Amino acid sequence: MGQVLEKSGRIIDLRSDTVTKPTPEMREAMFRAEVGDDVYGEDPTVNRLEELGASMVGFEAAVFVPSGTMGNQVCIMSHTQRGDEIIMESMAHICTYEVGAPAVLSGVQIRTIKGTYGVMDPAEVEEAIRKPNIHFPRTSLICLENTHNRSGGCVIPIENMKAIYEIASRYGVKVHLDGARVFNAAVALGVDVKEITRYCDSVQFCLSKGLSAPVGSLVAGSKEFIERARKARKLLGGGMRQAGIIAAAGIVALTKMVGRLKEDHENARILAERLCQVPGLYIDMKTVQTNMVVVGTRGLGVDGPDFVAALKKRGVLCNADLPHRVRLVTHREISRDDVEEAARIIGEVAAQLREERSS
Ligand SMILES: *Cc1c(COP(=O)(O)O)cnc(C)c1O
Repeated sequence: MGQVLEKSGRIIDLRSDTVTKPTPEMREAMFRAEVGDDVYGEDPTVNRLEELGASMVGFEAAVFVPSGTMGNQVCIMSHTQRGDEIIMESMAHICTYEVGAPAVLSGVQIRTIKGTYGVMDPAEVEEAIRKPNIHFPRTSLICLENTHNRSGGCVIPIENMKAIYEIASRYGVKVHLDGARVFNAAVALGVDVKEITRYCDSVQFCLSKGLSAPVGSLVAGSKEFIERARKARKLLGGGMRQAGIIAAAGIVALTKMVGRLKEDHENARILAERLCQVPGLYIDMKTVQTNMVVVGTRGLGVDGPDFVAALKKRGVLCNADLPHRVRLVTHREISRDDVEEAARIIGEVAAQLREERSS
């Protein structure tokens, strides 16, 4: 590869928790999975995963989808009509990283509210809900995101979700939770995930991120809502057949992998503490709540993408998510030693770049 790797030759991949591979137990469960045609509702393993997922988040029913993006989009499609307006935080995954799908697939427009660490002010949300007027679109949905990806994995406080949910209910507006990492939020808060998901009408959560399943997300809601979501999933081409093969790994993810997310959070905190000591790097420790560390590189005089490239040469992988910011994500395949090693390498690379800039 032409890269100068550390002695171990090991790549420390901090790009995302999506890089986690299935565990041996997942492989075994996949191998043994009982399957059937899920479009006919006949895959026993998918049915088991859907029932388990629904009960864990406190809803009547759930539907298994190939990705978090499809999960969010089937929910938007099932909650709205063409021409509606939906409200979300300005950096929400749905309006940043989903290719404009709400407009393309559901024909709705997005109205954004700038949050603080991903948290929207309930009063601003209430103000943004459209009141009856012949000129206005109808507000039909508010989307929340917990944890909030672009703010560095910040947890949205339960009281904030409750306040927004109560406002929405008063106006007959539904609330969807993009809970791609909602189990990280639950673990960080030390609460049952149901304490979070009770303040929404639908939730999407990823099995494929920190929970380490190879593929898939679940959408949960009322029975009637999930019937509509199932039809939307079919419309989008997400009706899978013997999907029990992948659902089997999802069952292991939900039953075995939630508790260990706290290790990822501890590792992220240690990484952040180490990087705080590196001159030129900026970390807002208030954002280090779950399994992400966002690092500002402006003080080094280096662009995020250049920093990423320099780290890659030393075997540390991460992503630049803003021009002067890189994001590091901890996950099951990153040990405490990896974090210490990554911090050491990042410190060295930063020192080298600083020297180059000043000479
Ligand atoms: C990853 C993610 C998604 C989308 O999941 P995919 O499976 O990558 O489509 C949605 N929302 C948030 C907040 C995410 O982090």
